[in-house]
Amino acid sequence: VGDSGDYDSEVESVCPFCGVGCQVSLKVKDGRVKFVEGINGPANEGRLCVKGRFGFDYIHHDHRLTKPLIRRADAPAKGLNVDPGNWSTHFREASWEEALEVAATGLKGRGREVAGFGSAKCTNEEAYLFQKLIRQGFGHNNVDHCTRLCHASSVAALLENVGSGAVTATFNEIENADVAIVIGANPVENHPVAATYFKQFAKRGGKLIVMDPRGQALKRHATHMLQFRPGADVSMLNAIMHVIVEEGLYDQQYIEAYTENWEAEKAHLKGFTPEKMSEICGIEPETLRAVARDFATAKAGMIFWGMGVSQHIHGTDNSRCLISLALMCGHVGRPGTGLHPLRGQNNVQGASDAGLIPMFLPDYQTVTDDGVRSAFTEVWGGGDFSAEKGLTVTEILDDVHAGNINAMYILGENPAMSDPDVDHARAALAKLDHLVVQDIFLTETANYADVILPASAFAEKAGTVTNTNRQVQMGRPAVPPPGEAKEDWWITTELANRLGLSWTYQHPSEVFAEMKRNMASLDNITWDRLEAQNAVTYPSLSPEDPGQPIVFGDGFPRVEGRAKFTPADVIPPDETPDADYPMILTTGRQLEHWHTGSMTRRSKVLDAVEPEANCSLHPKTLRKMGVAAGDLVRLTTRRGSIEIMARADRAVAEDMVFVPFAFVEAAANILTNPAIDPYGKIPEFKFAAVKVEMVGKQ
Ligand code: SF4
Repeated sequence: VGDSGDYDSEVESVCPFCGVGCQVSLKVKDGRVKFVEGINGPANEGRLCVKGRFGFDYIHHDHRLTKPLIRRADAPAKGLNVDPGNWSTHFREASWEEALEVAATGLKGRGREVAGFGSAKCTNEEAYLFQKLIRQGFGHNNVDHCTRLCHASSVAALLENVGSGAVTATFNEIENADVAIVIGANPVENHPVAATYFKQFAKRGGKLIVMDPRGQALKRHATHMLQFRPGADVSMLNAIMHVIVEEGLYDQQYIEAYTENWEAEKAHLKGFTPEKMSEICGIEPETLRAVARDFATAKAGMIFWGMGVSQHIHGTDNSRCLISLALMCGHVGRPGTGLHPLRGQNNVQGASDAGLIPMFLPDYQTVTDDGVRSAFTEVWGGGDFSAEKGLTVTEILDDVHAGNINAMYILGENPAMSDPDVDHARAALAKLDHLVVQDIFLTETANYADVILPASAFAEKAGTVTNTNRQVQMGRPAVPPPGEAKEDWWITTELANRLGLSWTYQHPSEVFAEMKRNMASLDNITWDRLEAQNAVTYPSLSPEDPGQPIVFGDGFPRVEGRAKFTPADVIPPDETPDADYPMILTTGRQLEHWHTGSMTRRSKVLDAVEPEANCSLHPKTLRKMGVAAGDLVRLTTRRGSIEIMARADRAVAEDMVFVPFAFVEAAANILTNPAIDPYGKIPEFKFAAVKVEMVGKQ
């Protein structure tokens, strides 16, 4: 890793990790990717973080699945009990013909008994085919993916109030802003290349306002750092908006021209004085006033947010507040202004756009609309499906426990690690009588599979992906998949045909062409154009237009072109600390590891830097408990318990513990609360009541 020299080929593609969507050049020698360099993509301009630069060697790991596998008749009972490097006691190798036949036979004719999880790691074409297979093949909408665990509440609020779930401006627009709020996000660790633009903004005098219950590296560049109490977002944001109203700092002209429901919002904010809200959020009233003045009086302001905002039972309310804050200041639709939920996975924007969600078809066209459904069945050549909105990720697993869903097709998703209360998720997977898993490794979820279909990594396939900036980008194959592994679009197509559908795709470009027929967002974007230009931002107004970095300058895609204010009330977290569970648990990612760890923990450099499960506690908390950094602690919530190495970290509040969720040996999601936001149906990963106990010295 990391050497330079002569290569057999150099292939331009896109980093497979976060939603920033950095473009890369993959240097190939002897059939292996040897080195990765950043190239001049619109989101990264040559920059890469440690994951993009050094985290690619997992594609050559000897745990890669190279042949289809079928569960042995004499395999031990289903459980988290398979060694991914030595699976022969549980599975036997099979030909593609046999594996596809067994996979399809177990699913065929079962209609509502089948559900599907696709993945934000899929390309746009794979995501589109996956949702099409569930809808056309089984007649319903029970198909979802990890957007449900990520920004579903942000999208719900954006669709409701702005009329579109995507960002209104690219993150690079910060270079034209005077003030920027970054809330509930830790971009230095989670969107590192975007963070470089944020730092440059602060360096040239931009006012950076960071709001997060945890401290973070961006704090060093911030004009204001508001380390508010966990779960107190609405009280803090309403207090800031209260000041803007009280001091008359809002943009009356903009509000009159482009919004609705302002009077209701204004009246609602009356009670949220900084003095009163300070008691809930823990931020001094004067700081709240200063932030309100800085944001409202700036010529151009942007708001960026992450999962600290979205992963709460009031995640949609949190986003509603951020939208209202931007609207009342007129900070949307101009250079240096905008609303930007920083998307997590490399293709969570694209997979959602492609309809991999239970309530929407591609381009967020609702499944309840007869005209919309028939437009799709016409393009698909038949295959009626239900007008009822489907179930979400967590609801599907609940329905497995209820005995209504008995078979699943899971592509690239790892619910045995990623769902809240994973013991509940694992029990659901074990209960299925037929589970087909398509992946590149024998993941924790694949432990429960009846058939495993070996798939391809990003560097082994062609396909488009869409980043947080709405930039549709071309991914290209640099090396072939290992052994008999196949491209995912091929596998889904073969499965579809064995389910009785008649799909004839020979290449993902044909899928992209079909998507365009019912996706106006892709107007003027063609496969050939992406091949030639690597990236086009949607919307693109003509074949020459590189795309619009800023949208909604002249109104919103809502009734009468107006965005809406939706007032939000303070709702406490689902469970609050008490005598039994006196501390607050929060979870997230670390710079070196990606989500459930299946890729980055198999990357030599990343695993060497961060090899062990760990949690972070304030040094004073550790001292009080008689625990030294490096000792083992036991964390227990109402769902379960893990033992994990403790680290000292002043960024964490004294009553809080932070646990990264990439480590199966101490899985954070054994602890997390499955309570969901009623609108986005996203679980409350960011707040649970927890007990921390000393276990022993390492
Ligand atoms: Fe990859 Fe994100 Fe890092 Fe860019 S910032 S290199 S997309 S992980």
